[in-house]
Amino acid sequence: MTGFAYSTPTPADPVIDALVAALPKVSLHCHLLGTVAPATVVDLARKHRVDLGGRTADDLYDHDSYEDLGEFLRVLDVVGSVVRDLDDLHRVTYESLTAGGAAHGVLYREIQLSPPGHEGVPYSRLLDGVIAGARDAETDTGIGFGLVIGINRERSGAEARRLVEQVIADRRDEVLGIGLDYAEVNGPPHGFVEAYRLAGDAGLGRTAHSESGPPAHVLTLLDDLGCSRIDHGYHVVDDPEITARCVEERIPFNCTPVSSDIGRYSGSGDGTHERIREMVDAGLCVTIDSDDPPMFGTDPTHDFRVLAHALGYGAEQLGAFTLNAVEATWLDASDKQALRQRVEAALAAVPTP
Ligand SMILES: [Zn+2]
Repeated sequence: MTGFAYSTPTPADPVIDALVAALPKVSLHCHLLGTVAPATVVDLARKHRVDLGGRTADDLYDHDSYEDLGEFLRVLDVVGSVVRDLDDLHRVTYESLTAGGAAHGVLYREIQLSPPGHEGVPYSRLLDGVIAGARDAETDTGIGFGLVIGINRERSGAEARRLVEQVIADRRDEVLGIGLDYAEVNGPPHGFVEAYRLAGDAGLGRTAHSESGPPAHVLTLLDDLGCSRIDHGYHVVDDPEITARCVEERIPFNCTPVSSDIGRYSGSGDGTHERIREMVDAGLCVTIDSDDPPMFGTDPTHDFRVLAHALGYGAEQLGAFTLNAVEATWLDASDKQALRQRVEAALAAVPTP
């Protein structure tokens, strides 16, 4: 049970429900602040005496309004404003990885963490709280984790560079790489070449959001920013040549069906998920995750469920998404092999009709 109504309800189907519940999942595109349950936001607002403008846990997240990315980001800032001290950071991380992760069969998550979204929280405190919460979740449920530090692309390239310098100066084993988020239209990728080169020189993994295009931005991400994977990237299929290259190089695309449908990136908001089907049919390496699950009225299981309904995918294709995600992680070779074995064992136990 999720405790909230799905934004994209599907017809009752016990076979699909059993399949997606049992499916092992590996999560590469999920933002910590976007995973905070509404009841937790209300609790923390009360604790810190933050006025939520009369909003309650029932109406805090209005997913239909997030077709406008700006509106979504404004609510995300409100969530960030109530997550302040070590206890808060521990709590939201722990809940994200247990009720929001392991309970859905997520075996491993590379958490996207956006320091600019935690205004006023020093970077070292942010990491201390998140890592402590994640460690406890790992101990209690076995879920593995790594961290991806997100740059806010609506701010300057100089600020991005300073954040990367901080990541390098306060180096933690848990921090595996960097990402680039917020609205692509307000921060095209070429403004971040310098920050990404610095991260690459320090051996950090690199990913970036590309939700609205154009397809040429995929080339900028690969060739100028040195990304080894891309978050969203649906528009790649508009360019057959770039698509062919990404197929050839096995570039992973971390797709998020429900949030992208609401945001009109992967389709026209009609739940058909045509872009994801085109990407799969083209032979691209696609992974599936849930982006900002409670905010978009979804969860890690439901994103697989909507694809099973909309595109008719069964155990083989849904399992392939998870195996693609194993391949796309930034784990070292032995940890990746151990995760692959856990995923394969879980896939072998998935019920077949
Ligand atoms: Zn995202």
